[in-house]
Amino acid sequence: MSAETIYQQLRSHLAYLKLAAAADALEPALETAEREKPGYTKFLHDLLQVEVAASEQRRLDGRMRFAKLPAHKTLEQFDFDAQPTLDRRLVEDLATLRFVEEKSNCLLIGPPGVGKTHLAIALGHRAVHAGYRVYYTTAAELVARTSRAAMDGRWANTMRFWAGPQVLIIDELGYLPMPGEAASHLFQVISRRYEHASIILTTNRGIADWGHIFEDTTVATAVLDRLLHHATVLSITGESYRMRRHRDAIAALRPALTGLPQGGESP
Ligand code: ADP
Ligand code: MG
Repeated sequence: MSAETIYQQLRSHLAYLKLAAAADALEPALETAEREKPGYTKFLHDLLQVEVAASEQRRLDGRMRFAKLPAHKTLEQFDFDAQPTLDRRLVEDLATLRFVEEKSNCLLIGPPGVGKTHLAIALGHRAVHAGYRVYYTTAAELVARTSRAAMDGRWANTMRFWAGPQVLIIDELGYLPMPGEAASHLFQVISRRYEHASIILTTNRGIADWGHIFEDTTVATAVLDRLLHHATVLSITGESYRMRRHRDAIAALRPALTGLPQGGESP
């Protein structure tokens, strides 16, 4: 039995320290080093760089899985020309993520199909890439989960959970009415996060209309008060992007359609 070579010891050190990426890169790095004769510092730097990059990628993947973003939407995919009522500079300012550092909120208000969810996810995507913990939910799911937690005696736990992410996306507030208890749960989540962490909230209801979402106007006022104190409000009044695309498709078909022989009519 021969004693372990120093190379074998190096491999087992890397394995013991769980530096798997560096271990994989060792062989090719040594071959390159034979040829290029880098200094000791550069050799070690390049080898550790591989491990750092792999670790960053693992963390990014973990944050992305945790965020549960329902689709892959980015700001680069967003067609601002299609939505002239949207203030592009406000979106670009939000994209710097200063609002996350400032623990302020973002409200996206507009009718269905105008890109509210798209923008919310795209900002979430940015934040994940910048290293923030992000979590996506809908208003309906949030209140369903908090109600279940309240019944199961897990209230404190669930409140800690909702307070945790640096960005909480609450999508689709207002599509379903929110009876008293649900509204109070939503209020408590918003209240816990107030001045501690950001919320991106989307809604189809204008702020003046929030009394209709919540049975209780006192809760509606309290929710709005917390949300709007530090917030960027993006209001989109344009038409649905999906409908727009259909309209363009229909317009493109029209010449062909009018060229078709009209059934039953003879010249
Ligand atoms: P909302 O949440 O306002 O109802 P969505 O964000 O779900 O609307 O948008 C509906 C669909 O249209 C999505 O697939 C979205 O990516 C797309 N979309 C909406 N607006 C735009 C836009 N300005 N540029 C590109 N895609 C858009
Ligand atoms: Mg939506």
